[in-house]
Formats: sequence, structure tokens, C-alpha cells
Amino acid sequence: MYYNWEVQTNTEELKVVCNLIRNGELVIFPTETVYGIGANALDENAVGKIFVAKGRPSDNPLIVHLADKRKIEEVAQNITEVEQKLIDNFMPGPFTIILERKDIIPDIVTAGLNTVAIRIPDNIIAKGIITFSGVPIAAPSANISGKPSGTSIQEIRKELEGKVSAIVDGGKTKIGLESTVVKVVDEVPVILRPGKVTPEEIEKVIGKVKIDKNVLAKIDKNSVVESPGMKYRHYAPESKCKLIYCENELDQIFYLKKYIKEYKGNVVVLGFKEHEEKIYVSEGRFINIGSKNNYEEIAKNIFSALRKADELKPEMILIEGIKKEGLGLAIMNRLLRTCEYDYIELKNS
Ligand code: AMP
Ligand code: MG
Repeated sequence: MYYNWEVQTNTEELKVVCNLIRNGELVIFPTETVYGIGANALDENAVGKIFVAKGRPSDNPLIVHLADKRKIEEVAQNITEVEQKLIDNFMPGPFTIILERKDIIPDIVTAGLNTVAIRIPDNIIAKGIITFSGVPIAAPSANISGKPSGTSIQEIRKELEGKVSAIVDGGKTKIGLESTVVKVVDEVPVILRPGKVTPEEIEKVIGKVKIDKNVLAKIDKNSVVESPGMKYRHYAPESKCKLIYCENELDQIFYLKKYIKEYKGNVVVLGFKEHEEKIYVSEGRFINIGSKNNYEEIAKNIFSALRKADELKPEMILIEGIKKEGLGLAIMNRLLRTCEYDYIELKNS
């Protein structure tokens, strides 16, 4: 069933949706980051359906979504001072913390790890569904595994309709990128996946913060990593992609033009608003991802833009990159995987 709660949550429909969750069915719902495909986290059969619907590798654990902080102790234990400080400062919000798990969480959720990823979404629809279902909800991003995350219902329906029992439409998601994932190791928060909550913001609260070396690196599929999700091809459309970031704007335009020529115009450019008039491609083949200094806007648009570009089936999607700072780190972490590290970077010397 499809429900539109973009303007307001319908309480009768909310009851239906929560019953589906309690009965072990899958529901797609919005959060402030991206859409999630959710199931009762305490029901291993229900969680199993998520892996099937997404085609997700079973060694990639899921994030458990809770309605409020008081629920954390029901699923996690031995919370340290630093972990508590992170919880107090960044939750609810686009922030996921890895904690020691309690046995109530089935192995299928954590891929057998002794930790569990916890998030408290700050979105009225997500909160309503979790609260009234009365159970923690395991919910990865609503997309076929490896594809860009779903940030609007139109694109998600194309991909997942028929694979879930209900789809709740809450409009385009506010942030557009998945949560920041943090694990505290030896009292230091380590960012396993960058997101809207930036290293700089965490540093202000805690002091020292580390960024896992795999956040920007190319990872071998057979290596052991802190966060299993890091290993997989991700956020990737069917078409090949190339990421270009030159500090100097003239260089940036030069490279874009060079590749447009090299591929004889059979490209789609995901570019900044400011470059729309400077880049010549055929009608509809320049997709504006936002203003070059507005990382919030770029984050919000990037996954939809990738899907839109893919529909045109170009030989190459050329993507304009940004500085790996603040929210730029999260955007570039996703885009490097999108492009499978086909990346050109030119810094001013
Ligand atoms: P997604 O559900 O697609 O947003 O991805 C969730 C991310 O969190 C993946 O990269 C997972 O590998 C990571 N994750 C989930 N649980 C854990 C855990 N217990 N330890 C480390 N990383 C985790
Ligand atoms: Mg995902």
C-alpha cells in the first residue's frame, strides 16, 4: 500500500503501518537522512526479508532505529562516558553510534558482531512509526544494494514497489545523505562513515576525533574493516562515473570540457549551478546539483541526480567534486564509491 503523509500523518493509516511492522512485514518510510526500508529488529524472519528485498550481503549489519534515548539501554549495554556524551549531544539526529549489544538483538541484525548500530531519527513520520510500533526498527536505506540511496518516493517506487507491504511518502528527505556512523575506540570517537554531523562538530564536544582510514580509501573486498558496509560498491548507477575536483575553477572547466569532447558528448554532467552556462552539452544533459559552496544543497540533490543521469544512459557521468571538509567529506566519501575511484584531483600548488 502507498500512503502519502507529506502534509500530515494519517492516524488510521499509522495504525495499519505499525501493525504491519509488528506482524513482521517491511515498510518503507522517510527519515531526515534518506528513506529507510524497515522491519521489527527483534524478529529475525522480518529482518531477513530486508536482506532479500535489497539483495544486501548478509555480512553487512543494519542500523537499529529507536524512538528515544531511554530505549537505548534495552538494546545496548556498558555505555561509556564518551559514548554517553555523544548520545546526549547528537541524538536524536543524523548520527549513528556503535554500542555493545544486548542479546535481545538477533545476530542477523548485527551480522554476528558483538556491537549494534543505534540511531534515533529526528523526523516526525519515522518517530511516529517507531513509537507506535513499540519495537526497535532495523532500517537500511531504501534502495537495491549498491545503488544510490532513495531520497524521494518516485525513485524508490520504481526500484522496490512490490517488495514491501507499505510505502509511506513524506516528500523529499531533508538531508539526503545517510547518518554519520561513529564507534568509540579507546575513548576516542572514530568516524566509520561521515555524514551530516561533521568531524568538526564532534571535536567541539569531545576533543579528539579520528576518521577511519577507509573513509576515503579504496578498499579491498577481502580486507577486515571496522564497518562491513565500507567494503561494498555503493551509491553507484549503471553508467560509469568520473569525479573531477580542481581547486582552480578554470582547471575544473577545462577538464569537464576535455572529457565531454573525449566521450563525443555522450555524457551527463552533474554540475554546479554556476557552471550551467559554461558547459555545453545537449539539452537535459547538464543536471544542476546546487550552488558550488552550498554543500547542504548538494547533499540533498546528489542521489536523485545520479538516478536521473542514469536514466539517460550516457557513456560517462561526469561529476563535479568539492572540498573534503565539513559536509564535503560525507559527499566525497559517497562520490568516490560512486565512481569506483575514477577521480581527478588538482590542487593549487
Ligand atoms: P545503511 O544501513 O545502508 O545505512 O548502512 C549502515 C552502515 O552501518 C553500514 O556501513 C554498516 O556496515 C554500518 N554498521 C552497522 N552496524 C555496525 C556495527 N555493529 N559495527 C560497525 N558498523 C556497523
Ligand atoms: Mg545503504
